[in-house]
Amino acid sequence: MDQLRRDPVAGRWVIVFTDKPYAPKDFDIETLPDKKGTCPFCYGHEGMTPPEIQAHREGATKANSPGWSTRVVPNKFPALKIEGELNRQGLGMFDFSNGVGAHEVIIETPDHTKSLADLLDHEVEKVIWSYRDRSVDLHGDKRFRYIMIFKNHGFSAGASLAHSHSQLIALPMVPKNVNEELAGASKYYEYKERCIFCDMLAQEQSENERLICENSRFLAFSPFASRFPFEVWILPKEHHSDFSFIQTEDVIELARILKEILLRIKRVLGDVPYNFIIHTSPIEEQEREDYHWHIEIMPKLMRIAGFEWGSGFYINPTSPEVAAKYLRKAKIV
Ligand SMILES: [Zn+2]
Ligand SMILES: [Zn+2]
Ligand SMILES: [Zn+2]
Repeated sequence: MDQLRRDPVAGRWVIVFTDKPYAPKDFDIETLPDKKGTCPFCYGHEGMTPPEIQAHREGATKANSPGWSTRVVPNKFPALKIEGELNRQGLGMFDFSNGVGAHEVIIETPDHTKSLADLLDHEVEKVIWSYRDRSVDLHGDKRFRYIMIFKNHGFSAGASLAHSHSQLIALPMVPKNVNEELAGASKYYEYKERCIFCDMLAQEQSENERLICENSRFLAFSPFASRFPFEVWILPKEHHSDFSFIQTEDVIELARILKEILLRIKRVLGDVPYNFIIHTSPIEEQEREDYHWHIEIMPKLMRIAGFEWGSGFYINPTSPEVAAKYLRKAKIV
Protein backbone atom coordinates (compact mmCIF):
# COMPACT_ATOMS: atom_id res chain seq x y z
CA MET A 1 0.00 0.00 0.00
CA ASP A 2 1.16 3.49 -0.80
CA GLN A 3 1.02 5.92 2.07
CA LEU A 4 -0.38 9.36 2.76
CA ARG A 5 2.13 11.05 5.00
CA ARG A 6 1.74 14.30 6.87
CA ASP A 7 4.60 16.72 7.34
CA PRO A 8 4.53 17.43 11.11
CA VAL A 9 5.76 21.02 10.71
CA ALA A 10 3.90 22.39 7.71
CA GLY A 11 0.91 20.08 8.01
CA ARG A 12 0.89 19.28 4.28
CA TRP A 13 0.15 15.82 2.93
CA VAL A 14 2.27 13.75 0.59
CA ILE A 15 1.31 10.62 -1.31
CA VAL A 16 4.41 8.46 -0.99
CA PHE A 17 4.93 5.40 -3.21
CA THR A 18 6.05 2.72 -0.84
CA ASP A 19 4.94 -0.26 -2.95
CA LYS A 20 6.93 0.17 -6.13
CA PRO A 21 9.19 3.16 -5.52
CA TYR A 22 10.90 4.77 -8.51
CA ALA A 23 14.64 4.17 -8.78
CA PRO A 24 17.01 6.92 -10.03
CA LYS A 25 16.92 5.48 -13.57
CA ASP A 26 13.13 5.92 -13.73
CA PHE A 27 13.44 9.70 -14.05
CA ASP A 28 14.26 11.67 -17.20
CA ILE A 29 16.74 14.40 -16.43
CA GLU A 30 16.93 17.42 -18.70
CA THR A 31 20.30 19.00 -19.19
CA LEU A 32 20.55 22.06 -21.36
CA PRO A 33 23.38 23.62 -23.36
CA ASP A 34 25.41 26.48 -21.98
CA LYS A 35 27.04 29.58 -23.42
CA LYS A 36 30.45 30.29 -21.90
CA GLY A 37 31.94 33.14 -23.94
CA THR A 38 29.75 35.94 -22.63
CA CYS A 39 29.25 34.78 -19.05
CA PRO A 40 29.12 37.78 -16.68
CA PHE A 41 30.29 35.60 -13.76
CA CYS A 42 33.65 34.59 -15.28
CA TYR A 43 37.06 36.24 -14.61
CA GLY A 44 37.59 39.32 -16.72
CA HIS A 45 33.87 40.00 -17.04
CA GLU A 46 33.45 41.75 -13.66
CA GLY A 47 32.31 44.89 -15.47
CA MET A 48 29.26 43.03 -16.77
CA THR A 49 27.73 42.86 -13.28
CA PRO A 50 26.82 45.80 -11.03
CA PRO A 51 29.77 46.71 -8.70
CA GLU A 52 30.52 44.04 -6.10
CA ILE A 53 29.17 44.31 -2.56
CA GLN A 54 31.69 41.90 -1.10
CA ALA A 55 34.31 39.41 -2.30
CA HIS A 56 36.84 36.92 -0.99
CA ARG A 57 40.11 37.83 -2.66
CA GLU A 58 43.58 36.36 -2.55
CA GLY A 59 46.28 38.97 -2.02
CA ALA A 60 45.82 42.58 -2.97
CA THR A 61 43.59 42.41 -6.00
CA LYS A 62 41.28 45.30 -6.73
CA ALA A 63 37.50 45.21 -6.41
CA ASN A 64 35.69 44.37 -9.64
CA SER A 65 38.74 42.74 -11.19
CA PRO A 66 39.90 39.08 -11.32
CA GLY A 67 41.54 37.46 -8.26
CA TRP A 68 38.39 36.66 -6.27
CA SER A 69 37.19 33.26 -5.13
CA THR A 70 33.60 34.26 -4.26
CA ARG A 71 31.91 37.46 -5.24
CA VAL A 72 28.60 39.04 -4.16
CA VAL A 73 26.92 41.48 -6.53
CA PRO A 74 23.46 43.06 -6.75
CA ASN A 75 21.19 41.16 -9.12
CA LYS A 76 21.18 42.97 -12.46
CA PHE A 77 17.52 42.14 -12.90
CA PRO A 78 16.29 42.38 -9.31
CA ALA A 79 12.87 41.11 -8.28
CA LEU A 80 12.92 43.92 -5.68
CA LYS A 81 14.92 47.13 -5.41
CA ILE A 82 17.05 48.26 -2.48
CA GLU A 83 16.32 52.03 -2.67
CA GLY A 84 13.46 53.77 -0.91
CA GLU A 85 11.25 53.33 2.11
CA LEU A 86 8.62 50.66 2.39
CA ASN A 87 5.24 52.17 1.66
CA ARG A 88 2.24 49.93 2.25
CA GLN A 89 -1.07 51.01 0.84
CA GLY A 90 -4.62 49.87 0.44
CA LEU A 91 -6.80 49.93 -2.64
CA GLY A 92 -10.27 48.96 -1.47
CA MET A 93 -9.94 45.37 -0.29
CA PHE A 94 -6.49 44.96 -1.83
CA ASP A 95 -3.12 45.64 -0.21
CA PHE A 96 0.03 46.56 -2.01
CA SER A 97 3.44 48.00 -1.36
CA ASN A 98 6.31 49.32 -3.42
CA GLY A 99 8.89 46.69 -4.27
CA VAL A 100 11.56 47.38 -1.66
CA GLY A 101 14.03 44.59 -0.98
CA ALA A 102 17.61 43.51 -1.58
CA HIS A 103 18.35 40.99 -4.31
CA GLU A 104 21.93 39.78 -4.41
CA VAL A 105 23.83 37.11 -6.29
CA ILE A 106 26.59 35.06 -4.69
CA ILE A 107 29.00 33.86 -7.39
CA GLU A 108 30.43 30.74 -5.80
CA THR A 109 33.54 30.20 -7.91
CA PRO A 110 35.39 31.86 -10.79
CA ASP A 111 35.45 28.47 -12.55
CA HIS A 112 32.66 28.38 -15.11
CA THR A 113 32.61 24.60 -15.35
CA LYS A 114 32.40 23.72 -11.66
CA SER A 115 29.25 23.28 -9.65
CA LEU A 116 29.03 23.65 -5.87
CA ALA A 117 29.38 19.88 -5.57
CA ASP A 118 32.76 20.03 -7.35
CA LEU A 119 34.32 22.69 -5.11
CA LEU A 120 36.78 21.90 -2.33
CA ASP A 121 35.55 22.09 1.27
CA HIS A 122 37.37 25.35 1.97
CA GLU A 123 35.87 26.89 -1.17
CA VAL A 124 32.37 25.95 -0.06
CA GLU A 125 33.20 27.48 3.34
CA LYS A 126 33.76 30.83 1.65
CA VAL A 127 30.34 30.56 0.04
CA ILE A 128 28.76 29.92 3.47
CA TRP A 129 30.68 32.89 4.92
CA SER A 130 29.28 35.06 2.13
CA TYR A 131 25.76 33.93 3.04
CA ARG A 132 26.41 34.69 6.68
CA ASP A 133 28.13 38.04 6.19
CA ARG A 134 25.44 39.33 3.86
CA SER A 135 22.72 38.10 6.26
CA VAL A 136 24.33 39.87 9.20
CA ASP A 137 24.72 43.05 7.20
CA LEU A 138 21.11 43.09 6.01
CA HIS A 139 19.86 42.25 9.52
CA GLY A 140 20.84 45.80 10.38
CA ASP A 141 18.45 47.29 7.80
CA LYS A 142 15.25 48.12 9.66
CA ARG A 143 13.11 47.86 6.53
CA PHE A 144 13.63 44.12 6.24
CA ARG A 145 11.91 41.32 8.10
CA TYR A 146 13.19 38.23 6.36
CA ILE A 147 16.31 37.08 4.53
CA MET A 148 15.95 34.20 2.12
CA ILE A 149 19.02 32.45 0.75
CA PHE A 150 18.53 29.94 -2.01
CA LYS A 151 20.10 28.29 -4.99
CA ASN A 152 18.67 27.28 -8.35
CA HIS A 153 20.91 24.79 -10.10
CA GLY A 154 20.08 23.92 -13.69
CA PHE A 155 17.67 25.59 -16.05
CA SER A 156 14.57 23.67 -15.10
CA ALA A 157 15.22 24.60 -11.47
CA GLY A 158 15.07 28.25 -12.52
CA ALA A 159 18.73 29.17 -13.00
CA SER A 160 19.18 31.63 -15.85
CA LEU A 161 22.98 31.29 -15.95
CA ALA A 162 24.98 28.07 -15.88
CA HIS A 163 27.86 29.56 -13.88
CA SER A 164 27.41 28.36 -10.29
CA HIS A 165 25.73 30.94 -8.08
CA SER A 166 23.18 31.35 -5.35
CA GLN A 167 20.91 34.22 -4.39
CA LEU A 168 19.80 36.23 -1.41
CA ILE A 169 16.61 38.22 -1.16
CA ALA A 170 15.85 40.45 1.83
CA LEU A 171 12.11 41.03 2.17
CA PRO A 172 10.03 43.66 3.95
CA MET A 173 7.55 40.97 5.04
CA VAL A 174 7.72 37.35 6.19
CA PRO A 175 6.76 34.98 3.34
CA LYS A 176 3.66 32.80 3.74
CA ASN A 177 5.56 29.50 3.54
CA VAL A 178 7.83 30.66 6.34
CA ASN A 179 4.89 31.79 8.46
CA GLU A 180 3.23 28.40 8.02
CA GLU A 181 6.36 26.58 9.09
CA LEU A 182 6.81 28.92 12.06
CA ALA A 183 3.19 28.40 13.08
CA GLY A 184 3.50 24.61 12.85
CA ALA A 185 6.68 24.62 14.89
CA SER A 186 5.37 26.98 17.54
CA LYS A 187 2.14 24.99 17.95
CA TYR A 188 4.22 21.89 18.67
CA TYR A 189 6.36 23.88 21.07
CA GLU A 190 3.35 25.18 22.97
CA TYR A 191 2.04 21.67 23.40
CA LYS A 192 5.26 19.76 24.12
CA GLU A 193 7.61 22.53 25.26
CA ARG A 194 10.23 21.10 22.93
CA CYS A 195 11.48 22.14 19.51
CA ILE A 196 9.90 20.02 16.77
CA PHE A 197 13.12 19.95 14.78
CA CYS A 198 15.19 18.86 17.80
CA ASP A 199 12.68 16.04 18.26
CA MET A 200 12.91 15.18 14.57
CA LEU A 201 16.71 14.99 14.80
CA ALA A 202 16.48 12.64 17.75
CA GLN A 203 13.92 10.42 16.04
CA GLU A 204 15.79 10.26 12.73
CA GLN A 205 18.94 9.29 14.62
CA SER A 206 17.24 6.56 16.60
CA GLU A 207 15.14 5.14 13.72
CA ASN A 208 18.12 5.25 11.36
CA GLU A 209 15.86 4.62 8.33
CA ARG A 210 16.19 7.93 6.54
CA LEU A 211 19.65 9.10 7.68
CA ILE A 212 22.11 9.85 4.91
CA CYS A 213 25.20 11.21 6.65
CA GLU A 214 26.29 13.30 9.60
CA ASN A 215 29.26 15.06 11.11
CA SER A 216 29.96 16.55 14.52
CA ARG A 217 27.61 19.52 13.97
CA PHE A 218 25.03 18.51 11.32
CA LEU A 219 22.70 15.71 10.29
CA ALA A 220 21.39 15.07 6.75
CA PHE A 221 18.32 12.90 6.13
CA SER A 222 15.41 12.28 3.78
CA PRO A 223 12.41 13.82 5.60
CA PHE A 224 9.51 11.50 6.50
CA ALA A 225 7.02 13.43 4.33
CA SER A 226 9.45 14.32 1.50
CA ARG A 227 7.49 16.23 -1.16
CA PHE A 228 9.98 15.38 -3.88
CA PRO A 229 11.97 12.26 -4.73
CA PHE A 230 15.46 12.51 -3.16
CA GLU A 231 14.57 15.59 -1.10
CA VAL A 232 17.17 16.12 1.66
CA TRP A 233 17.15 18.25 4.81
CA ILE A 234 20.29 19.32 6.65
CA LEU A 235 19.83 20.33 10.30
CA PRO A 236 22.33 21.69 12.80
CA LYS A 237 22.48 19.32 15.77
CA GLU A 238 22.55 22.20 18.21
CA HIS A 239 19.39 24.23 18.53
CA HIS A 240 19.61 27.59 16.75
CA SER A 241 16.77 29.45 15.08
CA ASP A 242 18.71 32.01 13.08
CA PHE A 243 21.23 31.01 10.42
CA SER A 244 22.94 34.40 10.59
CA PHE A 245 24.26 33.64 14.09
CA ILE A 246 26.24 30.65 12.76
CA GLN A 247 29.70 30.24 14.33
CA THR A 248 33.04 29.32 12.70
CA GLU A 249 33.00 25.64 13.64
CA ASP A 250 29.51 25.29 12.18
CA VAL A 251 30.46 27.06 8.96
CA ILE A 252 33.24 24.51 8.44
CA GLU A 253 31.04 21.50 9.11
CA LEU A 254 28.10 22.90 7.14
CA ALA A 255 30.34 23.40 4.11
CA ARG A 256 31.48 19.78 4.41
CA ILE A 257 28.05 18.23 4.71
CA LEU A 258 26.41 20.44 2.06
CA LYS A 259 29.10 19.59 -0.45
CA GLU A 260 28.87 15.91 0.49
CA ILE A 261 25.10 15.82 0.00
CA LEU A 262 25.30 17.58 -3.37
CA LEU A 263 27.99 15.13 -4.42
CA ARG A 264 25.86 12.16 -3.30
CA ILE A 265 22.92 13.51 -5.29
CA LYS A 266 25.17 13.95 -8.31
CA ARG A 267 26.51 10.40 -8.02
CA VAL A 268 23.05 8.88 -7.75
CA LEU A 269 21.07 11.06 -10.17
CA GLY A 270 23.65 12.75 -12.41
CA ASP A 271 23.79 16.51 -12.86
CA VAL A 272 20.15 16.91 -11.90
CA PRO A 273 18.60 20.38 -11.52
CA TYR A 274 17.85 21.24 -7.90
CA ASN A 275 16.86 24.02 -5.56
CA PHE A 276 17.98 24.52 -2.03
CA ILE A 277 16.65 27.01 0.47
CA ILE A 278 17.96 28.02 3.86
CA HIS A 279 14.96 28.08 6.18
CA THR A 280 15.66 30.47 9.04
CA SER A 281 13.67 32.56 11.48
CA PRO A 282 12.57 36.11 10.61
CA ILE A 283 14.89 38.93 11.61
CA GLU A 284 14.70 39.17 15.39
CA GLU A 285 16.95 40.37 18.17
CA GLN A 286 17.30 36.99 19.81
CA GLU A 287 17.15 33.34 18.95
CA ARG A 288 13.79 31.66 19.52
CA GLU A 289 13.11 28.38 21.30
CA ASP A 290 10.42 27.10 18.94
CA TYR A 291 12.21 27.23 15.58
CA HIS A 292 15.37 25.58 14.25
CA TRP A 293 17.06 26.73 11.05
CA HIS A 294 17.80 24.13 8.35
CA ILE A 295 18.44 23.65 4.65
CA GLU A 296 15.95 21.95 2.35
CA ILE A 297 17.37 20.51 -0.90
CA MET A 298 14.92 19.56 -3.63
CA PRO A 299 16.08 17.81 -6.81
CA LYS A 300 13.83 18.64 -9.77
CA LEU A 301 12.95 15.23 -11.13
CA MET A 302 9.29 15.78 -11.83
CA ARG A 303 7.02 18.57 -12.90
CA ILE A 304 4.41 19.88 -10.54
CA ALA A 305 1.03 19.24 -12.12
CA GLY A 306 -2.59 20.21 -11.65
CA PHE A 307 -3.29 17.92 -8.76
CA GLU A 308 -0.43 19.36 -6.72
CA TRP A 309 -1.37 22.97 -7.47
CA GLY A 310 -5.03 22.32 -6.79
CA SER A 311 -4.74 20.29 -3.61
CA GLY A 312 -1.47 21.38 -2.04
CA PHE A 313 -0.74 17.64 -1.81
CA TYR A 314 2.39 16.29 -3.39
CA ILE A 315 2.98 12.96 -5.04
CA ASN A 316 6.39 11.46 -4.35
CA PRO A 317 7.15 8.25 -6.23
CA THR A 318 10.37 7.47 -4.31
CA SER A 319 9.82 6.89 -0.63
CA PRO A 320 12.37 8.71 1.55
CA GLU A 321 13.52 5.38 2.99
CA VAL A 322 14.47 4.19 -0.50
CA ALA A 323 15.99 7.55 -1.48
CA ALA A 324 18.12 7.59 1.68
CA LYS A 325 19.39 4.11 0.91
CA TYR A 326 20.60 5.19 -2.54
CA LEU A 327 22.17 8.38 -1.19
CA ARG A 328 23.89 6.55 1.67
CA LYS A 329 25.40 3.98 -0.69
CA ALA A 330 26.75 6.55 -3.18
CA LYS A 331 30.53 6.39 -3.57
CA ILE A 332 31.87 9.85 -2.98
CA VAL A 333 35.65 9.38 -2.87
ZN1 LIG B 1 31.08 31.77 -16.29
ZN1 LIG C 1 15.64 22.75 17.82
ZN1 LIG D 1 11.74 24.15 6.37
